Amino acid sequence: MASDSRDVVATIGLAAGGFSARRLRILLWRGVRRRCPNCGAGGAFESWFRLRARCGACGLRLDRGENDFFLGAFTLNFVTAELALCAFMLAVIVALWPAVPWDFVLYGGAVLMVLMPLIFYPFSRTIWLAIDLAFRPATGREFRGEVEG
Ligand SMILES: [Zn+2]
Repeated sequence: MASDSRDVVATIGLAAGGFSARRLRILLWRGVRRRCPNCGAGGAFESWFRLRARCGACGLRLDRGENDFFLGAFTLNFVTAELALCAFMLAVIVALWPAVPWDFVLYGGAVLMVLMPLIFYPFSRTIWLAIDLAFRPATGREFRGEVEG
């Protein structure tokens, strides 16, 4: 689409000026919708758990060409799951005090800790990519060349 290519140019143009809150908001808004943070195009994933090597629209390497790039998304997913558990426990305890169903807190929390990382996984990948792009803008080499694997 024509608007996609304009978005790529606009994003790269913003990147040239360094970090800005406006650029971070744009990147994050695209990331929370599981889209390519750089251009906003959909289809960044082959399946729920498999990120494509490159964005089909702008050609950005979605792992930035780094073998350990997933660690940021892993940490983001882990922290989000922990915060969700804290929020769940706090909400149940505050809402039902003093008759707190402790078995529900225990088993509900366990189920949440299994489901939350699975549900949030793809979002963690594109949100982490958005955060990383905000602080380390993409360079030309990330849009060209072959991707192994
Ligand atoms: Zn893209």
